Amino acid sequence: MRFFKKAVAAFCLCTLLLTPSYATAPAASFQDVPADSPSYEAIQWLYQSGYTSGDGQGHFMPDSALTLRDSLYLLSAASGISLSELEAEVPQLEKSSPISTNGFYALLFQAYDVVPNIGETYILDSVSGYIFTLTELGTTAEDGQAVRGEYYMDSTANPTYTFPETPITRADAATAIYMAASGQLVQQAPEVYQYMNLHLDAGYGAGLADLFRYVDMIPDPILKQFDADGWVIVYGDVFLNEMSQARLADIRGLHTMATNTIYTKLPDVVCHEMGHWIYYVDDVNWILEDCYLKEKQAAIELIRPYAGSNKTEFFADVFSYFVRNHGDKTAMDIFASSMPSAYHLLLEMEQTGWLTPFDWDIPWPTTGW
Ligand SMILES: [Zn+2]
Repeated sequence: MRFFKKAVAAFCLCTLLLTPSYATAPAASFQDVPADSPSYEAIQWLYQSGYTSGDGQGHFMPDSALTLRDSLYLLSAASGISLSELEAEVPQLEKSSPISTNGFYALLFQAYDVVPNIGETYILDSVSGYIFTLTELGTTAEDGQAVRGEYYMDSTANPTYTFPETPITRADAATAIYMAASGQLVQQAPEVYQYMNLHLDAGYGAGLADLFRYVDMIPDPILKQFDADGWVIVYGDVFLNEMSQARLADIRGLHTMATNTIYTKLPDVVCHEMGHWIYYVDDVNWILEDCYLKEKQAAIELIRPYAGSNKTEFFADVFSYFVRNHGDKTAMDIFASSMPSAYHLLLEMEQTGWLTPFDWDIPWPTTGW
C-alpha cells in the first residue's frame, strides 16, 4: 500500500463550509458536537486547521448527509490537491446532492494518493472508521450460506470494495479525512485473521475491528484447528435473520455442524459460538452434567439467565466468560469462587492445549474445589 500525506496548502474558498486558514483558529467547538462524540477529535482537527466553520453559527450538523460540493471543498482543503483536479474525477452531478459513502471514499483515495492493491479486498468498518485489507475474504451466497473456496468476485484481478452506497454523514466524512491525513485509514487485517476463514455478508463491515478483537481472545490452538477442520465464520445477518423469522426468535449467533459454520451478527457472540464448537471437539458433555447442575444458578447470576437454559448453553457462556476475562484477575477470581467446577474444567482444558478429548474412563473429581 502506497500511502502518503500531501503538504497542506492554505486555501481561501468562499463557501458555507470553509473558512480561510486562520493563523490561530478559535478553540471553541461546535455546539452539536459534544466532547464525548466519537468524531469529536476529527471535527476539532478540521475546525482548528481552518478547513471548516460548519454553518458559521456554531453548528457542524454531524448527522446530516455530506453534499458532493462540500466533499470536494473539504478534501481539497485538507489534502492540498487542487479543486479542479478533484472535480475532474466526479460525474456531472448536482453538487448540492448527497454523496454516497462509496463515492466519497473514491474521492478520498484520489485526494490522498491511496493506491489500492490488485487482488486485495477493502472493507470499511463504519464503527472504527478503519478500512481493512483482507486478502481472500470469503463470500456468502444470497441464502446466507458460506461458499467454501469462493472469494469476493474479481478480487484476484482487481481491488474489491464493499463500501455502502448510502449517503455518508458529515461526521463520518470528517473521521475518514482525519484518519487519511494521519495515516491511519488503511489497516492491514490483524494476525488473527490468518487463523480464521472469514466470510462477510455483502455490505456487512461494521464492527469488524471488534470482531477481530473478540476472535483474538480465543486461544490460538482452537482457532487453528477450527480453520484446519474446514470451519467458517460468517459475520452478517442474512442467514440469521432467515432463521429468526422461521423460529420466531432473535437469533444472534449459530453453530451448525450441517455446514461447519459459525454465524454471528454481533462481534462478541463469536466467543459463545466457539464455546459450542469446543464442547463437541473435547467431548465435555458427560463431565459437564455435574458442573451444570451445581453451578447453573451461579452462572445465571454472574453471566446471564440464558446460561441456565441447558448444559450446552451453560458451557458456551462459561467458555466465553473465561476467554474474554482471561487477563482480568478480579473477574477470574469471581468466576473461580462462584463456579469452581466450571473454572477448573476450563483450566484443565487450557493446560492440555484445549484440543484433548476428555477420557470417559477417568472419574472427574467431585470434591476438593
Ligand atoms: Zn448458544
